[in-house]
This record gives sequence, C-alpha cells and structure tokens, in this order.
Amino acid sequence: MRARIASGVLAAAIALLPGLKPADAASCRPDALGVARTVEIDTTGGPGFGFEHYKAHDFLAMKEVVLTFDDGPLPSHTRTILKALADHCTKATFFPVGKLSVGYPEVLREVAAGGHTIGAHTFSHIDLGKAAPDKAKDEIERGFSAVRRGAGTATAPFFRYPFLRDSKDSIAHLGGRNIAIFSTDIDSFDFKVQAPENIVKTVMSKLEKRGKGIVLMHDIQPSTAKALPMLLTELKAKGYKVVHMRPKDAVKTLAEFDALIEKDVKGLPSAGSEKPTASVVKTIPNN
Ligand SMILES: [Zn+2]
Repeated sequence: MRARIASGVLAAAIALLPGLKPADAASCRPDALGVARTVEIDTTGGPGFGFEHYKAHDFLAMKEVVLTFDDGPLPSHTRTILKALADHCTKATFFPVGKLSVGYPEVLREVAAGGHTIGAHTFSHIDLGKAAPDKAKDEIERGFSAVRRGAGTATAPFFRYPFLRDSKDSIAHLGGRNIAIFSTDIDSFDFKVQAPENIVKTVMSKLEKRGKGIVLMHDIQPSTAKALPMLLTELKAKGYKVVHMRPKDAVKTLAEFDALIEKDVKGLPSAGSEKPTASVVKTIPNN
C-alpha cells in the first residue's frame, strides 16, 4: 500500500527518507505515457480480439495502443519491464506461461501488484494448432490454474495462443468457458534476436501504418526489456495513448486442475507434512 501524497513539499521530504517511495503520481516521469482509458471486457461466450486473426470487435480509436507481454514471468527481464511500465505510470496485459508462473510466483505477484492485467498462455507453451482436443483443453485449463496459483489473486479470463496458432476445438472450449482470446494487431517480432532499436522501429512503423492496435511483445526477451523505455518514450512523443484492458469478471478455474497444480507445487504428502514448517525446521545458533 502506498499513501497518496498531496503536497509536493511532503513528497520531496519523504523522497529523502530511505526506504520510503513517493506516491504513484510523484514517481512518474514528467513525460509519462500514463493510461488514457481503461476498458472492461465482458468475456461471456469467448470473444476474440486482435485483427491478425479475429476481427469481430474493434474497440480502439486511432492512436490508441494496448501493451501486451507473453511467455513470462522471468525474474530479471519481467522486473525490468515492470520498472519501465511503472516509470511511465502505464499498464499492460501479461499472458504468462503456467509452468513459469508456479516457478516464479513472487515475480507474477509483482506484476499483479503493479495493477497490470494477467491472462494465461497455456501451461507449457505447446502449439495448440497441432494438439489433440483433450491435450489442448488440459494445457489451457492447467495454464489458468497455474497462473491463478502463482499470482495468488484473481486473474483474467484472457487467453493468448502460443505461436498465435488456434484450433476449432479449443476455440469452442474457450467459448464455453467464457474466456476471451487475444491475437495481435502489431507483432513486434521481438522473439527474433535483434537490437532493441529495431524492436522500437518495427513497432512504430507498424503503428504508423495501422494507426492503432494491440502490441505483442515478450517479457522474457532481454532485448525487449532494453527496448521498452525507448518504446514508451517514443509512443508518448508520437501522441499514442495507452488503453488498459480489465475483465468484467475474474476467470473461474476448474477445481480438478487447481488440485493438479496444488499437487505439483506441494509435492506428494508425507507423514507430518501438515505441520507448519516453522515447527519442523528452525534456525539454531552456529557452532
Ligand atoms: Zn508465447
């Protein structure tokens, strides 16, 4: 929790105190991108977004962008990206991989604490375009349960296909589960190893052509982490505005998949595993 600070004098005084952070507004860069508009998405029936694949719903006005990041969380790069977003007081949507979400829950919790929206991107990032229907369902559901477990808070019924490859059966499954699908309008191609400057150039030139769009990036890419401060500054300079997406309702994970993840996280029960760890293991004085 951060206290709101009304007075600039007080903010300056508090900034001098070690260990205390100034309030949100005070910590924004003077040329911060911010959030121009927040949209609430009703995911009933599993609507699709992103003109590369699904063209039914176009909710962005010219010069509006949505920032999205796939494939995380990874401690170093995800945190660098969170810092760049916080410096600009702006918000994004993350589509984390289930496996990494239970592997690095503390990082995903930082994403949630930053006020960003968290969807899901399967459990182990397989190509659902090629997967059997049962396997695809398992990857989707296990992914949502793992992300929910990792985040430790309600997450969004927002899904992005790995490699942007869908299948008829899995689309029907997501529809039945009231989970929205997000493709992209502006693919940064940041997964192809390239200089950070090139990522900025690719996104900006595609945006100039389309005028707006959902931008796809990856928070596991070191070049993206390096490019993001430049990109956000450039977006602001060129008059683009960030739209933040939020779900109308949180995703409802399925109990059987929650249980599978819980078993993965906690391991098999052994005798005495119900006891609190502090009563089993304690620090004693060194010899
Ligand atoms: Zn991916």
